[in-house]
Amino acid sequence: MLLREVEYARPSTIEEAISLLAEHDGARALAGGQTLVNVMKQRAAAPDVLVDLADLDELRTIGFSVDGMLEIGSMVTSTQLTASSEVDVARPVLAEVAGTIADVQVRNRGTIGGNICVNDPTNHLPPLLVALDATMTIRGMAGERTVSAEEFLIGVYVTAVGEGELLTKISVPTRKPGTGDAFQGITLGAHGTYVCNAAATVGPGGVRIALGCVSSAPVRALELEERLAAGDFSEGAVRAAAAGLGASLDPPSDVHASADYRRHLAEVSAVRAVLQAAERAKG
Ligand SMILES: Cc1cc2nc3c(=O)[nH]c(=O)nc-3n(C[C@H](O)[C@H](O)[C@H](O)COP(=O)(O)OP(=O)(O)OC[C@H]3O[C@@H](n4cnc5c(N)ncnc54)[C@H](O)[C@@H]3O)c2cc1C
Repeated sequence: MLLREVEYARPSTIEEAISLLAEHDGARALAGGQTLVNVMKQRAAAPDVLVDLADLDELRTIGFSVDGMLEIGSMVTSTQLTASSEVDVARPVLAEVAGTIADVQVRNRGTIGGNICVNDPTNHLPPLLVALDATMTIRGMAGERTVSAEEFLIGVYVTAVGEGELLTKISVPTRKPGTGDAFQGITLGAHGTYVCNAAATVGPGGVRIALGCVSSAPVRALELEERLAAGDFSEGAVRAAAAGLGASLDPPSDVHASADYRRHLAEVSAVRAVLQAAERAKG
């Protein structure tokens, strides 16, 4: 289907992009276009102006902040994440997971910023970034602010990015010695969409677990985190701690899985993710 007529702008600075977004009520940032262009074709979104971020090289960088956080520009693609030596050193699970998103065409165009701004409950990166305790930097005419991944991811297509604002970077704590990260779940076929997933990090700072596909935004498994705080990551202990996790959730039913089946999958995914993260934490 052809796109509805739309104005197109390709700013060369972040400031210009922000002022274009702020000037036009119906303006939308265009990153890799992998979701936005599809929803425009389906007439589910009809922005008046597309503000293409393609020339903003500043948003395509991966590096480290002075305090050692891994800093990823919002226009970094899944393919870039997969190939980055900085990611490999600081938080390799990001590369591992990005490398399993959809197919090579989607990974070459789709960006980390677009992935989390869409916040589709089945997307790989939202729960992973919650488990990794990432921070998002948002810039607007009034300046810059940072929010945690949990505060950022509000609902499907709803994030902390307001009108006239841009997500500029994602900051992820560098993995400390004795820390392990993992991402586990059940997909529809190899590299397919997730029916349910769980991300976990286990380390000296404690345990963080985030579940995907069970609500409109990732859900922290706080009770399970507390139960595991004593540090027993034997299979029996983790399974016992996760028992009842599903009952605390209110996941959707759809053509791929009933709510009950998703409750079960959430428990299974969380156990697998914690066990793998704990194993990796051993070094
Ligand atoms: C066939 C197919 C299968 C897919 N399967 C999966 C999957 O299994 N798992 C998965 O995780 N992902 C999947 N994706 C999603 C893909 O990985 C991309 O993350 C997603 O399409 C959006 O990224 P994008 O860069 O293309 O964003 P766009 O489509 O350009 O933008 C998406 C939305 O985010 C907004 N946006 C983008 N960047 C910014 C920014 N910096 N600041 C503010 N707003 C911004 C846009 O305005 C728009 O509303 C799939 C995509 C396709 C086409």
